[in-house]
Amino acid sequence: MSNKTALITGGTGGLGTAICKALCDRGDRVIACHLPSDTAPATAWQERLKEEGYDIAIIPGDVSSFTDTKRMIAEIEANYGWVDILVNCAGITRDKTLRKMEEKDWEDVVNVNLGSVFNVTRQVIEGMIERGFGRIVNISSVNGQRGQFGQTNYSAAKAGMHGFTMALAQESARKGVTVNSVSPGYIATSMTEAIPEDVRNQIVSGIPVGRMGDPEDIAHTIAFLTDEKSDYITGANIPVNGGLYMSF
Ligand code: NAD
Repeated sequence: MSNKTALITGGTGGLGTAICKALCDRGDRVIACHLPSDTAPATAWQERLKEEGYDIAIIPGDVSSFTDTKRMIAEIEANYGWVDILVNCAGITRDKTLRKMEEKDWEDVVNVNLGSVFNVTRQVIEGMIERGFGRIVNISSVNGQRGQFGQTNYSAAKAGMHGFTMALAQESARKGVTVNSVSPGYIATSMTEAIPEDVRNQIVSGIPVGRMGDPEDIAHTIAFLTDEKSDYITGANIPVNGGLYMSF
């Protein structure tokens, strides 16, 4: 039984839902952040999970905005206390080859995937260091490790998350705060449902394990990394990709 408070950005999304459930199962107080414009679907999500036995708090917050993130964390601290575990999971794609990419496609993807990691982590890091405990996990992507056609924006943002992870891990290593990234391969969520079926079939045929991953595969890894006992793993990137991209 853990008595930690965990904030999951993008918590009502495909991976976020599985992560919220896994942390709830081990006894964490879980808060899922959602886009302010998604309050109605987020409330329906919360009710659905409640029927399944999961008591998860929801909070609106646009994590691409420093100002809104600051407001969100202040609200969390006022209502639930401090954040012990932060999972930076909010993300978007706007796939196009660079020749066709507009400035907005670049800015939106970099701001939501990478800017958010600064915006949210900046609000909680000081408290974690002062209290001598923190677990931060940044959800990157296999495509941040190897690049992907049509994803210069997304690959750059996801690769940037690794740099952030390693630098902050060094700044907080002696203070009980671990910072790691997880790089999923292709996981069955609405994000990958957007990939045309023929392209998806081609991708699956190249995955050594022979299938797309389940959100629970990622949630299991997050639960492990955010466990109190995982205090000697920091600055690491854990690939969870069915063998799609092997590296050391
Ligand atoms: P998803 O679209 O189901 O969930 C993403 C969530 O982020 C959504 O709930 C969305 O509303 C939220 N979000 C987007 N912009 C936001 C903002 N500005 N502020 C707050 N919330 C915002 O996608 P998913 O598949 O669950 O992806 C979760 C994370 O995992 C993403 O960072 C994604 O890049 C990464 N990832 C996913 C896969 C995959 O195969 N599904 C693979 C590699 C990496």
